[in-house]
Amino acid sequence: MKCALITGGSRGIGRAICIKLAAQGYYVLINYKSNIEEAKKTLSTIKEAGGNGELLQFDVADKDQIKQKLGDWLQENEEEKHIEILINNAGIREDSLMAWMAEEQWDSVMKTNLDSFFHVTRLVLNGMLTRKYGRIINVVSLSGLKGLAGQTNYSAAKAGVIGATKALAQEVGRQGITVNALAPGFIRTDMTDGLDEKELRALIPLKRFGLPEEIAHAAAFLASPDAAYITGQVLSINGGLYS
Ligand code: NAP
Repeated sequence: MKCALITGGSRGIGRAICIKLAAQGYYVLINYKSNIEEAKKTLSTIKEAGGNGELLQFDVADKDQIKQKLGDWLQENEEEKHIEILINNAGIREDSLMAWMAEEQWDSVMKTNLDSFFHVTRLVLNGMLTRKYGRIINVVSLSGLKGLAGQTNYSAAKAGVIGATKALAQEVGRQGITVNALAPGFIRTDMTDGLDEKELRALIPLKRFGLPEEIAHAAAFLASPDAAYITGQVLSINGGLYS
């Protein structure tokens, strides 16, 4: 059975990607941190549409939990379920000007957005290498390309994942595995809930925030066999805000 693991699949962009990949026939592993109600909603939406999957709770900022929970799942299911697609999507922001940034704000953003890439991907990669096929898609950000004031932690973490995307793409290309990144601009989710869309949309050539489904379409394409010759790329999806 072909599976797709989406970290942070309970809400926002991750949920839209789960629904899209399930509609394409993948058995979807919906990771989340603590919001089980929202994770269950993602799963029931998938099942109502005729798809299938399961919840897989672990905190991507905690390497021991990743090793234990994801490691156990991989071992228990190694005979019949293979993760073909990994979407490293879970992320947080803890904005503050550098002068006032607490160590905790730096550390939590690094662990959740950057270290998670290493710990999750390393576990999943082995199976992809064995089967000589895989699609790894990292959800980064405009902030990691451009740098945004008030986000030195978040910009650094996302820029780190962009570097890792390009390096890993070169390591695993010959094994049929592609590694790409999606860099959203402003997308309507809980993460951008506090932002003033009316004011910010003046800066965006397409004059609106994007929708999670608009990221999911691109993720589904990069995850498909049709995208076999695309690797090491960062695709901006930002309404023309920056390129
Ligand atoms: P969101 O609506 O805030 O949802 C965040 C998701 O990540 C939730 O499913 C949450 O799980 C999960 N998550 C957070 N910390 C986690 C952890 N430690 N372990 C496991 N799961 C965790 O965010 P979003 O807007 O969809 O963002 C998704 C990704 O896109 C992030 O990487 C973000 O940086 C990136 N991005 C977003 C935007 C935007 O405008 N929205 C722009 C650029 C980049 P729970 O439900 O359990 O909390």
